[in-house]
Amino acid sequence: MPEMQTTSTITQLRKIISTARKVEGKIGFVPTMGALHQGHISLVHEARKHCDYVVVSIFVNPMQFGPNEDFHRYPRPLQDDLKLCLDAGVDLVFHPTVEEMYPAGFATSVEVNGLTDHLCGKSRPGHFKGVTTVVMKLFGQVQPDLAFFGQKDAQQALVIRKMATDLDLPLGIVICPTLREKDGLAMSSRNRYLSSEERSNAPAIYEALCQIESEIRSKKHSSCIPYREELLARLRSIPGAVVDYAEIVDAGSLEFTPEMRGEKLVAVAIRLGTTRLIDNILVNTSA
Ligand code: AMP
Repeated sequence: MPEMQTTSTITQLRKIISTARKVEGKIGFVPTMGALHQGHISLVHEARKHCDYVVVSIFVNPMQFGPNEDFHRYPRPLQDDLKLCLDAGVDLVFHPTVEEMYPAGFATSVEVNGLTDHLCGKSRPGHFKGVTTVVMKLFGQVQPDLAFFGQKDAQQALVIRKMATDLDLPLGIVICPTLREKDGLAMSSRNRYLSSEERSNAPAIYEALCQIESEIRSKKHSSCIPYREELLARLRSIPGAVVDYAEIVDAGSLEFTPEMRGEKLVAVAIRLGTTRLIDNILVNTSA
């Protein structure tokens, strides 16, 4: 096999992968929207550990962006991304055009109900339908043995795992920990939108999550509600921040139940200027 191959067509992708499956073995897949950072690369490293051949896709999927969201301004530094993939030991990068993925007449979608009623599903209508549709297509194209997703997008990972289970897809979903900058800010392609002032305020999001985690661990309250109030107050005190949501929900179902029981996902979405950032932590309340 050559060092790293790239393709933008589904036909060529299939050809390369059918050979790789025979010659190399287990196929690992990391779907991304590009503007890669070390968070993405940590998924590649995880894929390398478990698989013989690693495929990364780079596709800014129009179907998962709302009409007033950042589809057009989303960064697309393809050459930098290819260099990062090469350095990380990726075998194949698939970077299709919108026309390749959604040819004229495309009319199918995949939707997961229930899990998508909460968190980002509430504030970004149609977003997860776009995600599950494109990921289902990518799974059909790549046919990986294992696919790797980040805990950073906790709801997305759960929704995709549910889709894979419900549709009996013959692959495993691996959820990998969130990689952070030294100051705690979760790595994100959108961090590059932040002004220097916004960037210096952004670490307060993770600080607020950590403070709530230590309060939950001290078992001060038996209900989520006071913790959530405090989380909201801390997030609202970040200069320039507008809170989209701050929720403490069941880590499996994403449902809100007030009792502090089982594993909870503390999940937030914040706007700093024109940039929407998400972050979350998992807290096991019985630990
Ligand atoms: P994106 O390019 O933002 O669609 O992300 C592609 C994949 O990388 C998704 O599974 C994300 O959850 C994951 N990811 C993004 N940021 C991070 C991070 N900071 N740490 C770990 N995984 C991440």
